[in-house]
Amino acid sequence: MQIAIDGPAGAGKSSVAKEVARRLGLKCLDTGAMYRALTFKALNEGLDLSDNFLLGELTRHCQLEIKFDKNMNTLILLDGEDITEKIRSPEVNKHVSLIARSPDLRKELVYLQRKIAEKSNGIVMEGRDIGTNVLINADHKFFLDAGLEERTHRRWLEMQEKGLEVDPDSLLKEITARDRIDSERKEAPLKIAPEARVIDTTCYNLEEVVEKVIGFIKHTESRG
Ligand code: C5P
Repeated sequence: MQIAIDGPAGAGKSSVAKEVARRLGLKCLDTGAMYRALTFKALNEGLDLSDNFLLGELTRHCQLEIKFDKNMNTLILLDGEDITEKIRSPEVNKHVSLIARSPDLRKELVYLQRKIAEKSNGIVMEGRDIGTNVLINADHKFFLDAGLEERTHRRWLEMQEKGLEVDPDSLLKEITARDRIDSERKEAPLKIAPEARVIDTTCYNLEEVVEKVIGFIKHTESRG
């Protein structure tokens, strides 16, 4: 079974995807982590973030390893180093959408994502273009959304829990900018797949959203 979950930053995709995967006994892939890993590398190497050719070369020549822990988290190893924590830095947050515009870089990552899906015995994949591009034939497609203030608040709470102090206003600006770039780019922009179920999570907690997603899946499966 392949389940695609897309949506803007802070809509709850990661938490929902992990819990749905856990309950259904599927793998879970956070594709945003892959774009973040390449952003981390490009920033370290001081690359011009608008150079499509160089970003493609960087992606082709690095060793990106994806692993999964028992809590369904996506672990990222780049050239042998575990950078799972490092890719959540404010620097990466700020630049990741710029890099994700590169068609050459996307082509490489989408190839890897499809390979991971093929090899797994069922997967929940979350990102921006899963239902519209990566897993176009996914059995179930969801688009999670929430109001901008709520999404900003959730991200702020996440960062507080990690001990990172961030100004809510700058966070709101960063999320707005990221959503705009992700929705307006030419290559596989963030948009709702025609057959996706849209869930506005603004007024629901994690458990309620997970129940809705699993409910839709069971309902669809029972109709054959
Ligand atoms: O999900 P997350 O916030 O970690 O994603 C980081 C960024 O990676 C997104 O803002 C987007 O620019 C990019 N991304 C993408 N396509 C995906 C997943 C993430 O372009 N499938």
